[in-house]
Amino acid sequence: STGELRILLLENISQGAVSYFKSQGFQVDWFPKAWSEDELLEKIGQYHAIGIRSKTKITERVIKSASKLLAIGCFCIGTNQVDLLTAAKAGIPVFNSPFSNSRSVAELVIAEIVALSRQLCDRAREMHDGVWNKVSKGCWEVRGKTLGIVGYGHIGSQLSVLAEAFGMRVIFYDVINIMPLGSARQVESLDKLLSEADFVTLHVPELPETKGMIGAKQLKLMRKGAYLINNARGKVVDIPALIDALKSGHLAGAALDVYPSEPGANGPHFNDNLNDWATSLRSLNNIILTPHIGGSTEEAQQMIGEEVSQALSRYLNYGSTVGSVNFPEVDLRAIAADEKNFVRVCHVHVNQPGVLRQINEILSDHNVEKQFSDSKGDVAYLMADIADVDEHDIQSIHDRINKTRANIIT
Ligand code: NAD
Repeated sequence: STGELRILLLENISQGAVSYFKSQGFQVDWFPKAWSEDELLEKIGQYHAIGIRSKTKITERVIKSASKLLAIGCFCIGTNQVDLLTAAKAGIPVFNSPFSNSRSVAELVIAEIVALSRQLCDRAREMHDGVWNKVSKGCWEVRGKTLGIVGYGHIGSQLSVLAEAFGMRVIFYDVINIMPLGSARQVESLDKLLSEADFVTLHVPELPETKGMIGAKQLKLMRKGAYLINNARGKVVDIPALIDALKSGHLAGAALDVYPSEPGANGPHFNDNLNDWATSLRSLNNIILTPHIGGSTEEAQQMIGEEVSQALSRYLNYGSTVGSVNFPEVDLRAIAADEKNFVRVCHVHVNQPGVLRQINEILSDHNVEKQFSDSKGDVAYLMADIADVDEHDIQSIHDRINKTRANIIT
């Protein structure tokens, strides 16, 4: 029963998540701060699930001492703070919230397009310095201009809709063919997009193919007076090449929210100690520099709370691993509440030959209504809904599966 399951929430996770877990009947212990490895080692053994943000490290030692732990929720985007492989091998899926802030990023890009086009940040800075500098030269409306979106995923496609509402023409480049929204148009190559767009905005993930995707050659292909916007990942743009393109006047401006290396904490850290280009970037005109805030809004935080608490609850209640980052994604349509005597078998096991045969032999005395299994790396996961099962059968199925040789958890 869910009431026996205890969830530990650290790092000030939203109250929305707390109430959702309580509504599902779980016991919740909530703490505002991150816990050290020692604190975790001492207390994690009591918990069936843990919710963290980026500061709590779930190391191999922590996972090994978490004897009851069934699932980990990262109430953020990144999952580097968790030893994902060790968690998977221990049969513990890890969930995060990769798309909760797409809209926030898309809105920021809209703001940057207008701000670059009007040199807004330079004018604002001059006013803060006490300088009145009323100019119209080199300032443009965005209406009728072409926006080139590189990567038409969650963020790129949202942005496409917002930009059209502003009267912009939208073209996009993506490695897969995607149905354009509104009047947007997919172009066949990055080069074509670069040569047509007045604004180029990047929304690709960091992959070996996207590292340095925008270098000196690509910047040259961009139209004179065009603008570059990067809210994706820092390594996608060659920063020294961008500095050259801005200094020479080939580009009219740029907005950067992400950098090849970023400080780990807030404070006066954006200087050449980080990388020898930081000071050059800061000295340029019409360049908007922001500290990786693309997704940082109250709404995104709230969405993260909802998304991750629902994913964890779906796993604890029904075994669904959809959205997990380190586990095979397995789910079956929920059993109708009025259908009696159904049991869902969830079996996480080592990915090796012969397991399914053993399990199916155990289930063969019953009517298997639905069954699905998948694997990822060393871990495999089987889910089966079986009919006409009584209390006694449940115990016997459980015991027999427990005796098979590939068990991780049952
Ligand atoms: P997504 O996975 O929904 O979309 C990415 C798109 O890029 C996909 O359509 C994919 O096919 C395409 N793509 C992959 N490789 C490509 C290539 N070589 N050339 C062209 N297209 C390619 O991702 P998303 O949620 O839209 O996020 C995009 C990026 O934004 C990610 O790198 C993410 O980390 C970053 N992001 C930044 C912030 C921030 O705070 N600045 C916030 C959220 C996301």
